[in-house]
Amino acid sequence: MTELMSYDEALERFDPALGLEVHVELNTASKMFCGCSTVFGAAPNTQVCEVCLGLPGSLPVVNAKAIESAIRIGLALNCSIAG
Ligand SMILES: [Zn+2]
Repeated sequence: MTELMSYDEALERFDPALGLEVHVELNTASKMFCGCSTVFGAAPNTQVCEVCLGLPGSLPVVNAKAIESAIRIGLALNCSIAG
């Protein structure tokens, strides 16, 4: 049976490294990799296409507006933008 160490002992033995993964919803009219609408409240399965569904042979196209918005929010938050 494994014994648990105390919180204080854990702090002495380990150097915690924490990271955050943050998700935001961009105000685009279409999805990230296809032209399907992002309107909230639409009927189920009405805003999907072969790309959304990941069907074989479908090729995603990046939403330029989403890239622009992501870069803008990154710059506004004083982040570095990978080139
Ligand atoms: Zn789609």
